[in-house]
Amino acid sequence: MMGGNHAATGAAAWVAVTASTPIAFGWYPGVSNAGVIVGSLVCAGAALLPDADHHSGTIANSLKPVSNAVARAVGKLSGGHRKGTHSILGVAVFTAIAWLLSFLTLDTGDGLFGAILIGPGIMCVLLVSYALKALKITRDTKLLPWTTSITLAVLIAVFAPEEWYWMPFSVALGCTVHILGDMITTNGVPLLWPLKFRSPRWMRDGRGLELDMIWRSGGNISIPILGDAGSVREWIFLVPVSLYAIVGIVWAFLDQMGYDTMAVWNQVVGLFGA
Ligand SMILES: [Zn+2]
Repeated sequence: MMGGNHAATGAAAWVAVTASTPIAFGWYPGVSNAGVIVGSLVCAGAALLPDADHHSGTIANSLKPVSNAVARAVGKLSGGHRKGTHSILGVAVFTAIAWLLSFLTLDTGDGLFGAILIGPGIMCVLLVSYALKALKITRDTKLLPWTTSITLAVLIAVFAPEEWYWMPFSVALGCTVHILGDMITTNGVPLLWPLKFRSPRWMRDGRGLELDMIWRSGGNISIPILGDAGSVREWIFLVPVSLYAIVGIVWAFLDQMGYDTMAVWNQVVGLFGA
């Protein structure tokens, strides 16, 4: 799946899981409207993390030359592109790093701000700027993603630091959605890396019907409903996914501004309903 599409699925997944609107599941309750909005961008950025193993990806190019070196190191550690970072172990490692970083605080004493959670703040800045770059919301891909993400992180740190509790969960969800997104393309993903289970020979030499498409010869698992990465099917799939994310974010925003969003929803449902 392409970078921007990974980011869009990450944002949609966040809305689906955390929003308390009728179009969402609300499996992760207690997230405020601000949390739904900022979290969708954080989760969109987290949905790019597994491709940090790729030297020309959004993350590798984000803060050169440091980010190039990091991408190279991640690729080496995880056995190359689409290996360790695209496995269950990879999700666990990314989540553990986010969890550990969430304890990184800066104590400003009895001053105005008290203890500032700088770990989650830094994660927010990085992930939101990755998301904005990958989604290509603006033509300016140099300065604006950074200024926007820094502004958001500072606003949250000052006005709603309690929002940060969902940071590790957002990273876990984003990485999981990324892997699922790659899993529905032809090449699949090595879910159980570093364990590698090659498919049996009879499956590979054509006697396994189409099973070879699902259990790839290299050990990857695939449910190739989208075909190759970047296919027309992938773009068609992304239209409702992106729309869903946008509706969820706009809904949270209007609700926060005090609009009676439920009344509008009931009218819409009434139009299509009985
Ligand atoms: Zn990937």
